[in-house]
Amino acid sequence: MDYSPALRALITLPHNVAIFSHRNPDGDAIGSALAMRHYLEQYGHKVHVFFPSEYPEEFETLPGAGESLIWDISPEECKQVLQKKDLFFLMDFNAWNRIDRLGEFAKQIPAKVVMIDHHLYPESISDFTFSDPEASSTCEMVYRFIMGMDDGIKLNPTIGECIFTGLVTDTGSFRHATNPQVYRIAADLVERGVNDGLVQDRIFNSQKEKNLRLLGHCLTNRMEILPEYKTGIIWLTKRDYDDFNIQRGDTEGIVNYLLTLKEIKLAAFIHNQPTVVKLSLRSKGTLDVQEICRKHFNGGGHKNASGAYSHDSLKATMQKFKDILPLYKDAILKS
Ligand code: 5GP
Ligand code: MN
Repeated sequence: MDYSPALRALITLPHNVAIFSHRNPDGDAIGSALAMRHYLEQYGHKVHVFFPSEYPEEFETLPGAGESLIWDISPEECKQVLQKKDLFFLMDFNAWNRIDRLGEFAKQIPAKVVMIDHHLYPESISDFTFSDPEASSTCEMVYRFIMGMDDGIKLNPTIGECIFTGLVTDTGSFRHATNPQVYRIAADLVERGVNDGLVQDRIFNSQKEKNLRLLGHCLTNRMEILPEYKTGIIWLTKRDYDDFNIQRGDTEGIVNYLLTLKEIKLAAFIHNQPTVVKLSLRSKGTLDVQEICRKHFNGGGHKNASGAYSHDSLKATMQKFKDILPLYKDAILKS
């Protein structure tokens, strides 16, 4: 990590700050953005958090979540506030196109840019780059960032709750293989006053009946297993979106059910959102789904969790996915 005097000056002298995170913000996106906000505010910065699209309801109790600006809801307000900003933080994403029109507008503004992110292949768009694909989460990196600034004293329970959220969600509640540091950070956050049980309860026990019914529909009517390729697919049609009144965030986590099958190494969730077809790929072991998303669907992410969008039909996208499986058969079977 680069804690050069130039960076320290940016952090410790008040600026007009914009913090961005990615579309369909998950716990790590919103947790890292809000943690950074509460940290920077202690230095007297004026801070606004921006997301391209809305965040799921289970995160609305995170401190300050409700004050975030959302491009899809109020683009004009976003533009107005952004225009005055002189310092940007890019949290949990590493390319302007991951935040769509919000990024197109923001990148014209002459602000200093700090990136904190754990996805592969960051683009060269920042003046200060903290990129660590080995990190469990961007929230882990925020913790390390604050400690690296010798600011442990500033890490209060409010920041801790935000960081803990991303730590829990991006590690699948500490189920994915991760690094020992994650447990040390989690323990430290609890010692600093984070109510770990409450945070997890808010995230995981806040589903609506329609979410469980949708899951039942996916597992009963929309799941295909391809034993030859140790692959599972779950799909949802546009009609399903209407029938189940699916909103942003309602499909989060469905893909993971495929991975609970012993024989499955590769899981795909392919769903026809109102305007695009979205793919979410997950894998166990050495199989790199980031490569599949990047090479065949112009997407990206992490080795074991990646995503992409397609402008083809649902049917064509599913067929394309099945057609590329033979290319990865060896890698899947070895994984
Ligand atoms: P999810 O499948 O949950 O939407 O995303 C899994 C991971 O892949 C996340 O880290 C997310 O940031 C990344 N990701 C999802 N969609 C895309 C995409 O279209 N492009 C890129 N580069 N990354 C994506
Ligand atoms: Mn993340």
